[in-house]
Amino acid sequence: MSMDAGRIAGTARIVVIGSGHSAGRLIAQLKSLGHSGRIVLIGEEAHPPYERPWLSKSMLTEPVEPALPAILPDLEGVEFRPSRQAVAIDRKAGRVRLEDGSDEAYDILVLATGLAPRRLALCDGLEDRVLCLHKLDEARALRARLGQETGGGSVALVGAGFIGLEVASSARQLGCAVDIIEKAPLPLMRALPEALCRRIAALHEAEGSRLHLGTGVTALAPEGDGVRLSLENGCHISAKTVVLGMGGTPRDALAREAGLDLADGILTDAAGRSSDPQIFAIGDVARRRSGTTEAAGLRLESWRNAEDSAIAAAAAILDAPPPPPPGAPSFWTEQLGQRIQFIGQPVADGELWQSDEAFRPGYGAFLMRDDCLHQAVFVNAPKVMRAAREAFRRDGRIAADTLSALGFRRI
Ligand SMILES: Cc1cc2nc3c(=O)[nH]c(=O)nc-3n(C[C@H](O)[C@H](O)[C@H](O)COP(=O)(O)OP(=O)(O)OC[C@H]3O[C@@H](n4cnc5c(N)ncnc54)[C@H](O)[C@@H]3O)c2cc1C
Repeated sequence: MSMDAGRIAGTARIVVIGSGHSAGRLIAQLKSLGHSGRIVLIGEEAHPPYERPWLSKSMLTEPVEPALPAILPDLEGVEFRPSRQAVAIDRKAGRVRLEDGSDEAYDILVLATGLAPRRLALCDGLEDRVLCLHKLDEARALRARLGQETGGGSVALVGAGFIGLEVASSARQLGCAVDIIEKAPLPLMRALPEALCRRIAALHEAEGSRLHLGTGVTALAPEGDGVRLSLENGCHISAKTVVLGMGGTPRDALAREAGLDLADGILTDAAGRSSDPQIFAIGDVARRRSGTTEAAGLRLESWRNAEDSAIAAAAAILDAPPPPPPGAPSFWTEQLGQRIQFIGQPVADGELWQSDEAFRPGYGAFLMRDDCLHQAVFVNAPKVMRAAREAFRRDGRIAADTLSALGFRRI
């Protein structure tokens, strides 16, 4: 079906599947660019689009549940279909079918379906105490369990990625005993250079968490109102609550069944257009090809990417000028009492330069290879962060002299 550009710019019927972060930002952007056609938002959650980062942070630690960080100030002009799942796309007819049997016609379809958290196939019957943390309702359930346990409860985290480590920090803050179980030899190994992973592991231990590294979970069994975990290394752990933080997989089943091009996510161009020009994909589920990532594309799971991909897609849908290309990928996390920021991506055989021995406010680390910056990590260090952003905006090149002048030393 060919698109009528005049109809698309301004009045098209736009259907969005998934009512998470990128969907919210897309709709806000469509409205601010003057879209006046129908917008239908289909979301399996009951809530309007909200930001997720607080779910593993203040949502768990604040004495009173914080207000929902909603992305849209209101839903005016949006036909919101909450608590409903989209189950099929009929590309020929330009329609989306919902699980309740209804369907929606689209001129433009946007897939903003995010990730499905990985679960353990060992949890049958333990769903009330073995939790994932991706949605508000799951965070509420975890909050309620941690709240009951203040000052004496126990939590086991399966997976030492960002979410697992944030929950560990939050639970320690609440006085819970914390066990962190990770199959890899160190936490965060996919995201950071090894020296930093080692340091973060040591800091979590210093904060009072017990780390079980290089081992997986082989069995979960009920034990009173908690769980007994058996590990590959022969150890057993008892915990009131288990949180699974094992990453997620892109929710691309609808796109697969509709015959779109996929490669660990839905393949799109820089504006989010999939192999069908009437269908866009944004946020965690999309693998964007742009600039330097032309062939393989890049799939990112971050707040920044949810924003950037949604803004680029809104411009393309309405035929508005494209936003400037996104800078190097960036991410932040809050744990160990610090806000830690990252720009760029890790590389093998890099040299690590750091500004300080202690991981405290002002700390910065640069991962370099062949005089080129690949990743920078900061703890509340705006000056160093500006230097890194500048370098990434150019070609990433930084001479060793410049690093020394910034107070960095190679480790
Ligand atoms: C606990 C947590 C903490 C995080 N902390 C940080 C952080 O500190 N820093 C950072 O940069 N990023 C963080 N992130 C990542 C960031 O929140 C995500 O990258 C972002 O939410 C991705 O947005 P999205 O729109 O792609 O997906 P999501 O926001 O996950 O939304 C996807 C939505 O689609 C719905 N959906 C899926 N399939 C269907 C269907 N068939 N029909 C209807 N609805 C469907 C889902 O239920 C969900 O509501 C965190 C994420 C989590 C979960």
